[in-house]
Amino acid sequence: VGGHPLLSYRIAFPLAVPRWPNFPFGKSLSLICGALSWLRDFEQKKHQEEARLLETGTIPLSDGTEQPPSLSSSCKETPDTPRPAGEPDWVTQYVQKKEERDLVDRLKEEQVRRKKREERLQQIRHNAQLKYAARRAVSVSAGAAEVALRGPYGVARWGSGQAFRPDPRWLSSHHRQIYYCSRTHSQLAQFVREVQRSPFGKDTRLVSLGSRQNLCINEDVKTLGSAQLINDRCMEMQRSKHEKSKAEEEKPKRRRPEHRAACPFYSYEQLHLLRDQVLVGVKDIEQLVALGKEARACPYYGSRFAIPAAQLVVLPYQMLLHAATRRAAGIRLQGQVVLIDEAHNLVDTITGIHSAEVSGAQLCQAHSQLLQYMERYGKRLKAKNLMYIKQLLYLLEKFVTVLGGKEHPLFTLGTELKTINDFLFESQIDNINLFKLFGFTERYGTVLAASREQPRLAGFQHFLQSLQPAVTRTPVTPVEEGEAGVPRLASPLMHIESFLAALTTANQDGRVILSRQGSLSQSSLKFLLLNPAVHFAQVVKECRAVVIAGGTMQPVSDFREQLLACAGVEAERVVEFSCGHVIPPDNILPLVVCSGPSSQQLEFTYQKRELPQMMDETGRILCNLCTVVPGGVVCFFPSYEYQRQVYAHWDKSGLLARLAVRKKIFQEPKRANQVEQVLMEYSRCIKCCGQAGGTVTGALLLSVVGGKMSEGINFSDNLGRCVVMVGMPYPNIKSPELQEKMAYLDQTLPRGPGQPPPGKALVENLCMKAVNQSIGRAIRHQKDFASIVLLDQRYARPSILGKLPAWIRDRVEVKATFGLAFAAMRKVSPAFPSPLRAPPSPPPRSRASLLCPVSPVPS
Ligand code: SF4
Repeated sequence: VGGHPLLSYRIAFPLAVPRWPNFPFGKSLSLICGALSWLRDFEQKKHQEEARLLETGTIPLSDGTEQPPSLSSSCKETPDTPRPAGEPDWVTQYVQKKEERDLVDRLKEEQVRRKKREERLQQIRHNAQLKYAARRAVSVSAGAAEVALRGPYGVARWGSGQAFRPDPRWLSSHHRQIYYCSRTHSQLAQFVREVQRSPFGKDTRLVSLGSRQNLCINEDVKTLGSAQLINDRCMEMQRSKHEKSKAEEEKPKRRRPEHRAACPFYSYEQLHLLRDQVLVGVKDIEQLVALGKEARACPYYGSRFAIPAAQLVVLPYQMLLHAATRRAAGIRLQGQVVLIDEAHNLVDTITGIHSAEVSGAQLCQAHSQLLQYMERYGKRLKAKNLMYIKQLLYLLEKFVTVLGGKEHPLFTLGTELKTINDFLFESQIDNINLFKLFGFTERYGTVLAASREQPRLAGFQHFLQSLQPAVTRTPVTPVEEGEAGVPRLASPLMHIESFLAALTTANQDGRVILSRQGSLSQSSLKFLLLNPAVHFAQVVKECRAVVIAGGTMQPVSDFREQLLACAGVEAERVVEFSCGHVIPPDNILPLVVCSGPSSQQLEFTYQKRELPQMMDETGRILCNLCTVVPGGVVCFFPSYEYQRQVYAHWDKSGLLARLAVRKKIFQEPKRANQVEQVLMEYSRCIKCCGQAGGTVTGALLLSVVGGKMSEGINFSDNLGRCVVMVGMPYPNIKSPELQEKMAYLDQTLPRGPGQPPPGKALVENLCMKAVNQSIGRAIRHQKDFASIVLLDQRYARPSILGKLPAWIRDRVEVKATFGLAFAAMRKVSPAFPSPLRAPPSPPPRSRASLLCPVSPVPS
């Protein structure tokens, strides 16, 4: 991918490298244009081969000879079946002929289906009346109650807890899809907009997948707010539809329980019409919702219905990286291409998705719900299902006990880390087959949740009180207000299900963290995944190619070692590709500053960084920088706590007032919903100062590495003319979770000659990844420019410098004193494009006054 205007990035293709066109676009669009042009070529080639095969019964070889009908490598469906030795020739010939005939028949069928589909999509494109047909069909189908949705594209029995299953007849071995995933819905929406602008925007069949929270159009359900409640209510409605339909079919003699309303947007005809509309033209989530409202069909299910026919599926990380979620959505990765964008946190994301936590409160509520369910339906259940429910109840009781029941009065409060096996032994559940139990909860989890009409919780609370008198008597469950103020409970069985799934991980790949607090409701059990490759391996194994891409992927060794090598991918199958930055060399000035204006060594270790002289020195540096840098200065601190300390210290010492002479000061807000407002004020201030003149030349934003402003926010142009990094944001090495992960890596990964132990390398990589993300907020396009100031002498170490992105590393200058660094900034300023030269050139000054024009530097 040449000449994109964003940051450098690396790509790993474990299996195949698509042919990349030379589009002058950004990273994501370059990726997708490359992948889509590969897909187009692939499909063309496949159609040509099919046509030739059907026409002649043979495929011409490159040497001009002909081969009997069997598909070439790109569309091969079945491997040549080895014939048993000694089989007579006529048998072999017969079998071969039959295979050939079958293949031709299959191809013909596929061709007919494809033609029909294409004609239908073509018809929809040119026939606006279909929209009206969709509306008309509402009245026809409104009363219909389908047990399942059936059609050429799939069969779904969501109400019964089964996963969406695309019709295998439709899934041709030739149909290749591209799955594009990114972190957030806004990134995905941005990506879809870019596809719309691209040369592929008109004729690509794209489906955007989202959660019910984003896609639900049933106002009664949507107003519930939380994702969990929306999911629960929707599933409940599908179930009630299923029950109702079954009841009607079976004509029961006994009175059935009262039916709850089914969702009016979940109907067979409407969803089919919506599916076709979804496939015509590229649509983002908002457009899908609008389309769903117009067609009166659920966009959540409609989009899932369209997956098998789509060429490009756009979805969030969680949906792609979690096997059960993939299954539930009907996603099949076999032979497909996966693009994982913004993948700098991929290892952490996979770890997070598969690290389940259950609180004591959730255990209690799950037990209560199950108990009610068993009391109510126990007599009607099959013996096997009843046994599983009893096992689940037993297991929940044991979990509660291990968190501090009266049978274990010697437990001390605090955190304890255990291997999976030790935890199972200690909880006395090692004799239970967790795989079967997990399978049961996965299948019936939503059914087992207690009916909302019966919010009786007494059973387990009594049990708890008998178990531990000291247990808190405050409500043990997270309660959310529902309609008419009726308290409603989020489904805790979902958490239990995730925790059970986690416990089925191999002993060496995970740990259980027991956190015993003052009350049971605050105590928790957490599963920590140590080896994310166990889950990524399945994706890599099934896909034709996996592309891991990002703007700031350095250091890449984590991906290579922790994900790909541990997933069993051989080194020669991994291709790394990195682009340089397109900005001219003079547009960036990365500096490592080893000492401050008063010659204080800059080393922000835990021991030294809280010293008053270190905080003063940081303030002096910022005062100097703010004098020469126009527009915005973004300063990153290693933690919220340290930022708060420094701010308070500057306030006391008067440094804050001195800073305020040149820049209006903003701080990163504590709440996520305030970020937008702070950014708007920050940007408005910079704009106003640029126009008004005066002593205040812009704004200073005090931010935190890994905080709300260190990722996904662009400080382009005047919003970030200088990024300052105070110290090195190493993670807390004393955290038991990190220590366990380090020990795991030391045991499992090989240590290269002259390399630090893998555990130590992990800590360094975590730190540098966070630094790279933060400093990457500035310089967002080809004509942008900024200086990057790294305040800590440890940045000068070769091993650390090597972990900066190449486009920064190649230009970095290490300055032993602040005087040299400041001189470099002033010297290079005129070379920067005009805005940086905005402040009038000051008259020549003595070194001291130059270094600290706001406050004289102590000698
Ligand atoms: S079927 Fe769709 S519209 Fe209806 S409740 Fe579920 S998500 Fe909402």
